[in-house]
Amino acid sequence: MKPRYPALDWFRLPAAVLVVCIHTSPLASVSPLWDFWLTRVLARVAVPFFFMVSGCFLARGGWNNTGSFLKKTVLTYLAAVLLCLPLNLYNGGYGPLEWAKKLLAQGTLYHLWYFPALILGVLIARGLARLGRPGALAIASVLYLIGLGGDSYYGLVSRLPGAALFYQAVFALFGYARNGLFYAPLFLLLGAYGKRRAGKAALAGAACSLAAMTAEGLALRALGWQRHDSMYLALPLCMAFLFPLLLASNRGENRRFRRLSLLIYLLHPWSIVLVRGGARAWGLTGPLVDNSLGHFAAVLLLTLGVSLALDAVRPIRPAPTARAWKELDLDALRHNAEVLRSHLAPVCELMAVVKADGYGHGGARVARCLQGAGVRAFAVACLQEGIALRRAGVRGEILILGYTPAEEVPLLRRWRLTQTVADEAHGRALNDFGKPVRVHLALDTGMRRLGVPAEDAAALARLFQMKNLRIEGVFSHLCASDSPDPVSVEYTQAQLTLFYAAVDNLRTSGFDPGSTHIQASYGILNLPPQPCAYARAGIALYGVDSGAATAAAEAGLRPVLSLRARVVCVRRLRPGECADYGLAFQAERETVLAVLSIGYGDGLPRELAEQGGRVLLHGRSCPMAGRMCMDQLFVDVTGLPGVRPGDVATVIGRDGGERISAEEVSRRCGSIANELLSRLGRGNDRCQGVEDAI
Ligand SMILES: *Cc1c(COP(=O)(O)O)cnc(C)c1O
Repeated sequence: MKPRYPALDWFRLPAAVLVVCIHTSPLASVSPLWDFWLTRVLARVAVPFFFMVSGCFLARGGWNNTGSFLKKTVLTYLAAVLLCLPLNLYNGGYGPLEWAKKLLAQGTLYHLWYFPALILGVLIARGLARLGRPGALAIASVLYLIGLGGDSYYGLVSRLPGAALFYQAVFALFGYARNGLFYAPLFLLLGAYGKRRAGKAALAGAACSLAAMTAEGLALRALGWQRHDSMYLALPLCMAFLFPLLLASNRGENRRFRRLSLLIYLLHPWSIVLVRGGARAWGLTGPLVDNSLGHFAAVLLLTLGVSLALDAVRPIRPAPTARAWKELDLDALRHNAEVLRSHLAPVCELMAVVKADGYGHGGARVARCLQGAGVRAFAVACLQEGIALRRAGVRGEILILGYTPAEEVPLLRRWRLTQTVADEAHGRALNDFGKPVRVHLALDTGMRRLGVPAEDAAALARLFQMKNLRIEGVFSHLCASDSPDPVSVEYTQAQLTLFYAAVDNLRTSGFDPGSTHIQASYGILNLPPQPCAYARAGIALYGVDSGAATAAAEAGLRPVLSLRARVVCVRRLRPGECADYGLAFQAERETVLAVLSIGYGDGLPRELAEQGGRVLLHGRSCPMAGRMCMDQLFVDVTGLPGVRPGDVATVIGRDGGERISAEEVSRRCGSIANELLSRLGRGNDRCQGVEDAI
């Protein structure tokens, strides 16, 4: 498996220390020139680095995680504002207008400009990313150049006619040209498009561009052109070399460094005030304030100490990948939605079926990803699932395919959900509740599950005349469209004929059927485009075939879900020794068994172990052994050297060149992938989802 977030985390700590340098000028009392280089040239890579990390993260998620990223950023910013409030008040505070400007554009304390710049920058960068890479980078570069004119090159550029006036307006709102829209978008996009690159060329490029930035900074300083010193011509170049190097020198994920760097960033202004105050109180201003190195060291140590202490008392949760977990390939999900759309008539929209918690993939996560890919309609099994989607920020149409009792009409209205009318009696009960409710009518065309019989025109007319039913759609369900055998094909044709006849009949009787839909996954894959408003895709969206069908694989759909667990321990058995409940396993030869941290309690079929089930370990196939336990199982790893506790085993998904499909697992147990997958979701928080689009 590929590491998830390579390399970047370790550099966060030096970057945070560089920010502390900017605000403490460590070398000021040693050499002003060296201090200028350290704090006004070298340290200027720190903030662009943080922007690039954000850009990289957002681009990996296809920019679909922008909403939650911004929410988190706003919350962190608000916490930081509160944290710094005493310092603001100590400094005399601001007037109301000034507060608004500080809060929205400039940051309420000198280091907090980062947050409003990040928020605005992400919005701009996301918009620009839609233009494609060359256009996005070109526009962001122009913005950067405009900013540069108000920053390091102000002395030169402000001589141009009109420039001074323009920049005065920028400064009035943003304070500095780097705040606001000129600075962040370029670095966010450079991060988004950053690729790993190692080797001498990248290293030489980084060194040369840093040298160029040094020369540029020193020249600008000598010329006296700098109004501020955050932006250089060579800075984007320098970052474009540095970032790929950091990506390439993969040292893996380090969440602790992430937290510590944020704490250092947020807390160091407090340390500066406390060190100064403390030094004055104890008569130590000589070594702790006047001596710049002493000052820097004191501030850094205090910040680091407090950060470590706060980090130690933070609430801790189990890591999602500690035991057994699902991984989603969101790129595959988007790809599948695109493939299915290409099978639809132009006016027909995809309705994503995310019932049973998104076929076990996590309903909200799937729906949000698809919403980002332009899907506007969703279907769920029940009221609770509909509410959960709305809570997760899913907009558009949400159709409940199952039964909801009429007493729940207030909730249907409160969450703007559309209810399926299961039959005439259900429609009457919903109507009699006395409040208007949006519904789609289910027509039974031959499945005999839900729906008003399609040929019962009188019942349909009665439903259309009920004044509280807002009938916005009419649909049916095909029950044999997955099969190519002639009887099934004929049955499907009869269902289609019956459905369209009923719809036509409604129209001629003066009733508006609204949005019509009849295809589910196999209807989409096996039938020509239908003249409907929606097509409801479930299993095919997840890239999996149900039963014996192979249409999803033939259409090039890609599986979305992988299921993994850890090796807990490894045991050696001598010939004749037994293992497991009921001595289900007996070693015929020298055997090595690995115990995995997953079992039937996590949704796996219990009989899988005895039906030839297997897992992948180190890219090799290993058979399950004995009987499956509730939350553990045995695999035979004899002949596979180097298996250790903590190793990741793949139960569904790819590892190296090998793959185990959900179809394979379910076939072994005489079931279909739909059942297997939906059970992985049911009330099972132990098997946590990990969002992973790599
Ligand atoms: C589950 C369901 C679907 C989705 O079926 P797939 O075969 O998974 O695409 C569509 N419509 C109705 C009414 C359903 O119950």
